[in-house]
Amino acid sequence: MTIANPEPTSPPGPVHQRFEPAGDALHGRVIAITGAGEGIGRALALSAAAHGAELVLIGRTVSKLEQVHRRIAALKQVEASIAPLDLERAVARDYDALADAVQSRYGRLDGLVHNAGILGTLAPIEHYDVPTWCRVLQVNLTAAFALTQVLLPTLHASQDASIIFTSSGVGRVPKAYWGAYSVSKFGIEALSRTLAEELGGAGQMRVNALNPGPVRTRMRAQAFPAEDASTLARPEDVLRPYLWLLSAASRGVNGQSLDCQPR
Ligand code: NDP
Repeated sequence: MTIANPEPTSPPGPVHQRFEPAGDALHGRVIAITGAGEGIGRALALSAAAHGAELVLIGRTVSKLEQVHRRIAALKQVEASIAPLDLERAVARDYDALADAVQSRYGRLDGLVHNAGILGTLAPIEHYDVPTWCRVLQVNLTAAFALTQVLLPTLHASQDASIIFTSSGVGRVPKAYWGAYSVSKFGIEALSRTLAEELGGAGQMRVNALNPGPVRTRMRAQAFPAEDASTLARPEDVLRPYLWLLSAASRGVNGQSLDCQPR
């Protein structure tokens, strides 16, 4: 009797969703995350620190960043620093001060995660509030451009730098009433791919966009107030692709628009 070899089972998803980071996957890497005080950014900061990264916690509400800083300090493995920056109001000297501080403390930056974002309002374009439009485009798109530009010299000082932009489903397929948020995320996709084309060829820098998918956070609750949040992924459930893109495992991956969750 012959016993047939079983067919190899197909993997449950793409490599970035299956990534199993070693405990030291980010050891020695200096990683800056915007919006690190809450939601996905907070979860990513804690996980990246647990995997050995030194964190630059960028955000608006200092008390939230301090809380994350305390949690990281309790790990007794790595250090984090806090960089207060209101992406709606920051001006050139604020960006310059942040870049100078990162340069003088670390001398390089190995990862930059543009995570901070606001929803604005869900409304038809016909009635969309113009000041809200400007705020959403400023925080979600223009600030990501400005922060990238000012941090590029420190990113170039790394041998293996990774920039991650945070997109959305409505940054790839437009949806009625998502207004400025959708437009800002389409802009983020364009910014990510443009920068990837400009920088990615050299091999020492990779630039990619991640769509977290539906995640149980304050922003999601604002967009879908009647939804049963317990059915959604938690922030800590969607981190594998972030850790993959920030680690050496994704070296050479550039100009991609990836999903954190199966569709
Ligand atoms: P949260 O609302 O939980 O967190 C947003 C973060 O952005 C907070 O830390 C917030 O800081 C920060 N932020 C907002 N405005 C500013 C500002 N002016 N300056 C500095 N920081 C600011 O959102 P999520 O964690 O859900 O979202 C994270 C990213 O993921 C966003 O880019 C979002 O568009 C994207 N996304 C989320 C999805 C989801 O289902 N949750 C789905 C698809 C994409 P503070 O606490 O001070 O307000």
